[in-house]
Amino acid sequence: MTTTSSPADTTTDATVPSYHQLFIGGRWVEPSSDARIEVVSPITGQVIASVPEAMNADMDAAVAAARKAFDEGPWPRMSPAERAEILGRVGQEVKNRVEAMAASFTAEIGAPAASADAFHANAVKVWDDVTSLHERFSFEEDRTWDGGTGTIVREPVGVVATILPWNGPVATASLKFGPALAAGCTVVVKPAPEGPVSMMMLAEAIEAAGLPEGVVSMLPAGREAGEHLVRHRDVDMITFTGSTAAGRKIMGIAAERIAPVTLELGGKSAAIITDDVDLDTVFPNLVFFGIGHSGQVCAALTRILVPRQRQDEVVERIKSVMESLKIGDPRESDTVLGPLAAERQRDRVESYIEIGKNEGARLVTGGGRPPGLDQGWFVEPTLFADVTPDMRIAQEEIFGPVLTVIPYDTIEDAIEIANGTDYGLSGAVFAKDNAAAEKIARRVKTGQIGINSWTMNVIQPFGGYKQSGLGREGGVEGMEEFLETKLIMNP
Ligand code: NAD
Repeated sequence: MTTTSSPADTTTDATVPSYHQLFIGGRWVEPSSDARIEVVSPITGQVIASVPEAMNADMDAAVAAARKAFDEGPWPRMSPAERAEILGRVGQEVKNRVEAMAASFTAEIGAPAASADAFHANAVKVWDDVTSLHERFSFEEDRTWDGGTGTIVREPVGVVATILPWNGPVATASLKFGPALAAGCTVVVKPAPEGPVSMMMLAEAIEAAGLPEGVVSMLPAGREAGEHLVRHRDVDMITFTGSTAAGRKIMGIAAERIAPVTLELGGKSAAIITDDVDLDTVFPNLVFFGIGHSGQVCAALTRILVPRQRQDEVVERIKSVMESLKIGDPRESDTVLGPLAAERQRDRVESYIEIGKNEGARLVTGGGRPPGLDQGWFVEPTLFADVTPDMRIAQEEIFGPVLTVIPYDTIEDAIEIANGTDYGLSGAVFAKDNAAAEKIARRVKTGQIGINSWTMNVIQPFGGYKQSGLGREGGVEGMEEFLETKLIMNP
């Protein structure tokens, strides 16, 4: 049975509705099995909603719909301007639902309103940007070379599997499949099993915008069905955001049939603080750049590199901001930090805090569970000082509210430390003089870097050096990842 109306079931909690159907090829369809994903509140540990869990058969149906839509349907054959007009409607439908999606995300993943709003504002920004990509990019270009002429034609790569994490799924999804759709691809989207409800709302936005049949499917599922999608021979390209370990696995599978991948993986980004900086210009923001959304942001500035003689000053500032933050129920308007998204995420963060203590780093504040918050997956904002660059807490992505302060002796050392991990996703330089900061920024091996500020820019190329990923998302460069290049040579 199929329906085209919204299947949200708000009988338990209107903020986090349950769903009973999957969004396959642009329609709500009965799932192939009774399996369901339970949504566990990170605030209380209780089950608050559920959605169908997509199985391999559902993935097959979605890929078949996407294949047919790509091979025979109108979407890849429309002009980029025609597609942009329809994507503008998606943007409007996303805007219409942004508050509902943010509220659901808060309940499912535990992000306080400020973080939830920022993520969803980014999604809106991406859809706005996607509608004008065709005005900034030539899909065809005449070429002349020694002895000939021809045309360069940029064509959509085909059916794209989009595999997503839980830490900001609507924004991450938009950043991935918005540009893919603008390029003319069709997509099968697999949200993570943690926090899938806001993604079902995104599917409703897609439905309301009226894309042609088969162009978008939304199938929450676990790793196995995700891997089935990656292995599918009718999937032409995979775009993934998540852990470096999963990215490595997915790239390995794609390598078997030389399918292109883009990967947006982890980070361990550095904030380099120079010795001349006025700390009043750096604080309190620096703390939020590192532990906002409880540190569950791939681009977070989690390593604070300070001149050794200024370590105490910086540590004191971070400590006082951390100790002033209200931790608690993210649905309350004055809460600054909510819980971690899942129990295993809390366990992982706590294990890194133990690792830090055992490695000999100085625990300045935090390190435990906040008093009075006995339910849910809360961890105190935690600060380690006297961290050395080789420690695991300075090398590995913790994905929690944990900052490491690493003292350095010269700016050359600072650059070496900043570049001394397997990652290279984001970063920032804080200095009195912007020009001096830019000189340093140019030497840091990272995909984005801020001068005396920091943000995750989603409408310009975003992505990683080294094991932080492959390819770029956002803006024209993000769309180009989903395009093949063909040269037609004139006779
Ligand atoms: P993960 O990488 O295992 O999962 C992310 C997504 O990939 C989910 O949808 C998952 O179902 C899917 N997936 C995992 N293995 C797959 C496979 N072999 N084939 C197909 N799909 C697969 O992330 P996680 O376990 O949820 O989190 C673990 C750690 O990853 C975090 O603690 C954090 O360090 C990192 N992480 C990073 C980001 C980021 O934005 N870079 C996001 C989430 C998690």
